[in-house]
Amino acid sequence: LDPEAFAGNSHDVVDFLAEYYRDVDKYPVRAADLEPGRLRKLLPEVAPEHGEPLEEVLEDVRRDILPGLTHWQSPSFFAYFPMNASAAGFAGEMLSVGLNVVPFLWAASPAAAELETVVVDWMGKLLGLPSRLLFSGGGGGVLQGSTCEAVVCTLTAARDRALARLGHEAILRLVVYASDQTHATFQKGARIVGIPPSNFRVIPTSADTGYGLPAGAVREAVERDAAAGLVPLYLCATVGTTGLGAVDPVRELGEVARRYSMWLHVDAAYAGSAAVCPEFRGYLGGAELADSVSMNPHKWFLTNNDCCCLWVATPRDLTAALSTDPEYLRNVGTTTGTPAAIDYKDWQISLSRRFRAIKLWVVLRRYGAAGLRAHIRRHVTAAKWFERAVAADQRFEVVVPRRFSLVCFRLRAVNDDVNRELLSAVNESGRAFMTHFVVDGKFVIRLAVGGAMTEMQHVMDAWDLLQGKADEVLQRYYQ
Ligand code: PLP
Repeated sequence: LDPEAFAGNSHDVVDFLAEYYRDVDKYPVRAADLEPGRLRKLLPEVAPEHGEPLEEVLEDVRRDILPGLTHWQSPSFFAYFPMNASAAGFAGEMLSVGLNVVPFLWAASPAAAELETVVVDWMGKLLGLPSRLLFSGGGGGVLQGSTCEAVVCTLTAARDRALARLGHEAILRLVVYASDQTHATFQKGARIVGIPPSNFRVIPTSADTGYGLPAGAVREAVERDAAAGLVPLYLCATVGTTGLGAVDPVRELGEVARRYSMWLHVDAAYAGSAAVCPEFRGYLGGAELADSVSMNPHKWFLTNNDCCCLWVATPRDLTAALSTDPEYLRNVGTTTGTPAAIDYKDWQISLSRRFRAIKLWVVLRRYGAAGLRAHIRRHVTAAKWFERAVAADQRFEVVVPRRFSLVCFRLRAVNDDVNRELLSAVNESGRAFMTHFVVDGKFVIRLAVGGAMTEMQHVMDAWDLLQGKADEVLQRYYQ
């Protein structure tokens, strides 16, 4: 690596990205060109024999790549959940990739490993998590790439904790519980760790509980399973479900989990960020009964992808399931047993890992708790405005009361096809991008506010766009 070339190239890339961000609202939000194979046709069959100048590469990015991207950082991106980028997130990411150290063992980069322990405790305190999930309270946390990985790790820990007691043959009797709103990643995780598909319980939710998982139904299912000789293992509660932003009653579920010795995981991938504001902390009430909690700062916490915080109450369960101890990786922590010398390889699936802590640390230091609260509240205010606008228009209905910054709505009194047509018309316009969900057999449009560049005006523009497209679609429908 030539430091001069590195500096020059990096400046060129930063200039390129700054221009991109200046213009990002001018691109069609959803990829304009949806023809499969388009890019493959444009690119050579093999990698170049000799290196090429960066300017040429960036020119190709501008010409060939950008038109095929969906612009997640557009202020009019309202699809899925946001994937925040920010100046501080980018600065932190640059430090992370620039230093390119690998804190899999404490000794492999002591300050990187220790910074991670500090940052997860900072985050836990900012979100009001119980101290038993923090290092300072006997628990601890790790930064992973995704909720999916976090869920697989905690399922593995729960499985091995149970099998250590029951013997390995009992794996076929382990049962896991979730709601019909739980993210699909949980089902995948359960498959990966060997839970028989027939032992995956999906508890139905309904409008009566705001699509939250009813603790009574979980208890009944658990009792049925226990009576049949099965072993209730793991319950996944969600704060801010993907489809509707629903909230499961963590405390009540925690009580059921405790009573039947199940592992309780709280998945707050999206809405966990909101807990930086005291007015949203109540949704995590009962987290002191959880064995683990996870949330993704890369969604709505101004931290560039990827970054998932996972906290566990008993790190020993995690490390017992995930640790390896080959001679070539033995180091100070291994030999002295110093608890502060954390070997993070034992808290995750892979060995190599990114220095994510420095990114989150830069975000926390640059914006501070107050800046992060303002970021969350700005979006919640805009979502509230949008929800009211939808409710005031007789043609529309809000399908489920908004809790955070996600609004779920539809055209009332017309069938799903008309709603589908409305969503297609909005997305094809290139002026906004939203996605859908289906609840109680109804097609629902989701507007997830949360982009780092999204302001009230963009939400107002999206509403204008929706109204205009609704006029067109309804006119065609009724003529
Ligand atoms: N859980 C919830 C509630 C989510 O909303 C999402 C993604 O949107 C996930 C899990 C999956 O997260 P990841 O992509 O980090 O695995």
